[in-house]
Amino acid sequence: MPLAAPTRYAVIGNPVAHSKSPWIHARFAEQTGQQLAYGTICAPVDEFASQVRDFFAAGGGGLNVTVPFKLQAFDLAQDHASARARAAGAVNTLWMSNGQLHGCNTDGVGLVNDLRRLGARLAGARVLLAGAGGAARGIVLPLIEAGCASIDIANRTPARAVELAASFAGAGHGAALRGTSYADLPAGTQWDLVINATASSLSDEAPPLPARAYAAGGLAYDLMYAARPTAFMRQAAADGAAGTADGLGMLVEQAAESFFIWRGVRPDPAPVLADLRKQLSA
Ligand code: NAP
Repeated sequence: MPLAAPTRYAVIGNPVAHSKSPWIHARFAEQTGQQLAYGTICAPVDEFASQVRDFFAAGGGGLNVTVPFKLQAFDLAQDHASARARAAGAVNTLWMSNGQLHGCNTDGVGLVNDLRRLGARLAGARVLLAGAGGAARGIVLPLIEAGCASIDIANRTPARAVELAASFAGAGHGAALRGTSYADLPAGTQWDLVINATASSLSDEAPPLPARAYAAGGLAYDLMYAARPTAFMRQAAADGAAGTADGLGMLVEQAAESFFIWRGVRPDPAPVLADLRKQLSA
């Protein structure tokens, strides 16, 4: 009897050729003994919805969604979007259930899992979040749910930070949220965790954070990852942060969460992250 073809998965984006997701999910499949094939789909910018429909109509098992389609993915799946996706207003994981398209956003939980791996104590933590774009929006609720005491959101365009903070005001858990410009961050305040969710590291710049921003034991986390420490990580080390990390662990952790949603099996991100780090540094 011929073997059934493995279920197909893919990451859809534009561009997408650089994506590490196929490699990560192939490792997860090998590790857990799951039969699946994971590829890439580079969708023309005006053909996202039709490509998603075609993929699932042909029996596809699930899609990861990357730039620039996460908001469109939310629109497509909003009738069956998870609480995480609704909070983020964006979807990075799609699947079909009972003939309906479902969506989740695993970026935030990926970050929280990676922070825990790094030993960060989130319960009661004072957090400074630099940036108020899509990635920042996706991580606020998971940080609140992890018990952070306060989140100061600073952004180059302050109105976006104010709006982001206000949109989570009723999220519960007692976290205090404030949105501001960098210049208006409260003087003399120190934070246990500073997260760079801006795109500044792409141009090898750090956001203009106040000096002495790090409390004793404070951690700096850049959502971006690179072969070498980013400008934000270098700034943090010079400013006295006890630890610095980039977002490679978040990338692997968000993938692990997607894999769990699709397959019901939780892979071990640690060896995959270690190998990816070696590849990146080589
Ligand atoms: P986005 O929606 O375009 O938002 C960009 C943010 O960066 C905005 O807050 C913007 O401020 C700010 N910004 C851009 N250039 C800046 C500069 N030179 N100085 C200060 N602020 C600057 O992008 P995004 O989707 O949120 O992504 C942000 C970063 O997160 C990217 O580097 C991305 O690679 C990373 N990311 C990583 C993961 C992971 O798994 N590790 C997942 C998602 C995203 P304005 O509002 O003033 O324009």
